[in-house]
Amino acid sequence: MKKIDIHNTDRATHQALRDLNELLVLNIVRECQPISRIDIAQRTRLEGSTVSKIVTRLLADDFVYEEGVAAASPNGGRKKRFLHLNPNKAFAIGVDLGQRQSTVALSDLSGRILRSITVENDADPRQTIEALAKNIKKILQSSPSKERIEGIGVSLIGLIDPLEGRVLAGESLGWGDDVPVGAMLREALNLQLPMYFENGSRLAALAELWFGTHSMGQPQNLVFLDIGQGVGAGIVIRGQMYHGSMHGAGEFGHISLDPKGPACSCGGHGCLEVFTANQATLERYRKLGSANGSAPTAGNEIVITDIVARGLQRDPQAVEALRQTATYLGRGLIPVLYSINPEVIVLAGAITEAWDIIYPEIHRVLASEVTRFYSSHVSIIRSTLNDKPSLIGAFALVLARAFSGSGLG
Ligand SMILES: [Zn+2]
Repeated sequence: MKKIDIHNTDRATHQALRDLNELLVLNIVRECQPISRIDIAQRTRLEGSTVSKIVTRLLADDFVYEEGVAAASPNGGRKKRFLHLNPNKAFAIGVDLGQRQSTVALSDLSGRILRSITVENDADPRQTIEALAKNIKKILQSSPSKERIEGIGVSLIGLIDPLEGRVLAGESLGWGDDVPVGAMLREALNLQLPMYFENGSRLAALAELWFGTHSMGQPQNLVFLDIGQGVGAGIVIRGQMYHGSMHGAGEFGHISLDPKGPACSCGGHGCLEVFTANQATLERYRKLGSANGSAPTAGNEIVITDIVARGLQRDPQAVEALRQTATYLGRGLIPVLYSINPEVIVLAGAITEAWDIIYPEIHRVLASEVTRFYSSHVSIIRSTLNDKPSLIGAFALVLARAFSGSGLG
């Protein structure tokens, strides 16, 4: 059997995943292990012979291994051998730059976080980057398999240049414009490891593709929307992240739903973001309260998670505030459906915790306001990666670059 020794092989010559079907099979093994070839074929709807060929390649390249045998079927069929993902095939370091805190973490090929360190950001970007570098080195030092770490993936905020890792507009970090995070981190680290940079929402979309659970199989066209302080988005088209000409694609938050609506930070009016960001849901909740005469909660400030919790307890005011947010969100998805025509739209953010409240309303809007062909051919789901999808995406960025052919990266 051919074995790839990744200790003695140049990184560029890594055996790549050849196509999306390999990624699909690898993902099914990761999700359903232990699993037989026959079960993979059933779940992926790929031909048995195609699955066999792919599995042979994955075994040869050490992505998966065989262990255990299922009892032969009563009618005397061949015994089924079970496949498992080899999580130790490769490791990745992920850095998730947050607004106030950042995370440095190590994961294996399965996306499992093995070690994680939280770093408080500093008002001075240089101090923050030095703290990140120090903790990256700490994780490297303690890692049992340094030589299998394929690189460092860094999730950045705002408008960025992924090639150089520059934050072009980082007002949410309070760092001003054009901060060369990549160059600063490279200098502080002085390591040979490859480094990759990407916007956090785009990474979350990549994470959904690599590590998400999709009942309908591996989607090739996916849109990820994160509802929080604003609306972040990532677009995957034919398995590839879509950046646009200036790395600015996916600003769905500034689709105007009402030109006479409230002013938005972009200069426009009535943008999706103005109606669906957490602040909008909070204001709606307060207004509904004053309208029905209940006293505003003085002193302790309500946050979005409170409204979600109250909504889940069927507090009518909270349910209505969330439902109205979902109405706008549904309308905001209409241009996404018509322009991108994705198989899957993944929603994330605090309000998606109240899925039972927001999903029926989104569904209602799409069913009544969108041509049936479009509304019936898309799955709207909530993220299956509840915890830090952009960090998981930072791992995926490294692993995808290391193992995927040009078609996947
Ligand atoms: Zn706007």
